[in-house]
Amino acid sequence: MSKRDYYEVLGVPRTASEDEVKKAYKKLAKKYHPDLNPDSRTAEEKFKEINEAYEVLSDTEKRSRYDQFGHAGANGGGFDFGGFGGGADFGGFGDIFDMFFGGGFSGGGAGQRPAAQRGADLRLDLSISFEEAAFGVEKDVEIPRMESCEVCGGSGAEPGTRPQTCPLCGGSGKVKSAQSTPFGQFQTVKTCHRCHGAGTIIEKVCKHCGGSGRVKKQRKIHVKIPAGVDSGSRLRISNEGEAGTLGGPPGDLYVYLTVRSHQVFKRENDDVICEFPISFVQAALGCEVEVPTLDGKIKLTVPEGTQTGTSFRMRGRGITKLRGYGRGDQHVKVRVVTPTNLTEEQKKMLQDFGSHFSGDQQSDKGKGFFNKVKDAFMG
Ligand SMILES: [Zn+2]
Ligand SMILES: [Zn+2]
Repeated sequence: MSKRDYYEVLGVPRTASEDEVKKAYKKLAKKYHPDLNPDSRTAEEKFKEINEAYEVLSDTEKRSRYDQFGHAGANGGGFDFGGFGGGADFGGFGDIFDMFFGGGFSGGGAGQRPAAQRGADLRLDLSISFEEAAFGVEKDVEIPRMESCEVCGGSGAEPGTRPQTCPLCGGSGKVKSAQSTPFGQFQTVKTCHRCHGAGTIIEKVCKHCGGSGRVKKQRKIHVKIPAGVDSGSRLRISNEGEAGTLGGPPGDLYVYLTVRSHQVFKRENDDVICEFPISFVQAALGCEVEVPTLDGKIKLTVPEGTQTGTSFRMRGRGITKLRGYGRGDQHVKVRVVTPTNLTEEQKKMLQDFGSHFSGDQQSDKGKGFFNKVKDAFMG
């Protein structure tokens, strides 16, 4: 069976540029793709033919060999074109599919290197204080991670040497083998076992990383934690994960935050809640107290006749809003403390009070009484 000229197959002149070859191939491959021409034997044959032509003409080295020696040159050069000649080559079809549906042009059938591997993402659990969460903080943290080996630059080869093209697969990372079955011969494509799909082998291994191209490092990373984060907040720090392999990009670092509880403050969304004890005299007469806030002690006026459990709002004294502007509020919940360990004199005054007033603390008489006991109780 005589083979057609590859240029003729793709319908391009011998002077066609790489781009023109690619364009012609794309057009024809689309036209004769088996999925678009089911049951057409002619289309299938055509499809195989254009793939074979493209495998050679898209590769500078193979193309020049073909130009010099024709089909014999291309085939005699140790390249295996059996894939499209003898049956189903799913690897080849897969590449076509990527091209049609994945958008990008993946370079055709032969000689494609395996994709570089992106480095793994890392997780760091970090505990911060209530105030740090409220106002934001910057921290230096140390994480162990795999980094690109600085001795061999990530290649895994001893400095001065370079990774060599794998002699078994010729750099493609894949090997084809024929398999005989009762239904005929099938071509299968497998990852090359010599280079494990990398397409290159290292003859002199880098002593520093043992050939992996990566080394474990303890790395200090500066983490900026924005104001308003809460327990369960997750920060992503791009490219601070582990180094990729085969020149792949690094992964990301994810910081999971836990906010430690505070002795005085509790948090409700962006608001701070705190309880503040006052004496029953202060509650009855009203008073000015200094309550703790995230900004330090601030004066709060408690009106007379305040009941226990009453909440006072201090605007803008809460947590900085993570999304949006400004801060939440602080809510001060007053707790009226009933006195204990009374002296005989104090007890007598209260008994006196009890016999005159039955709960109506707002009356003038009540106020007069509390002013009197104020000295007795609060010195
Ligand atoms: Zn190394
Ligand atoms: Zn190989």
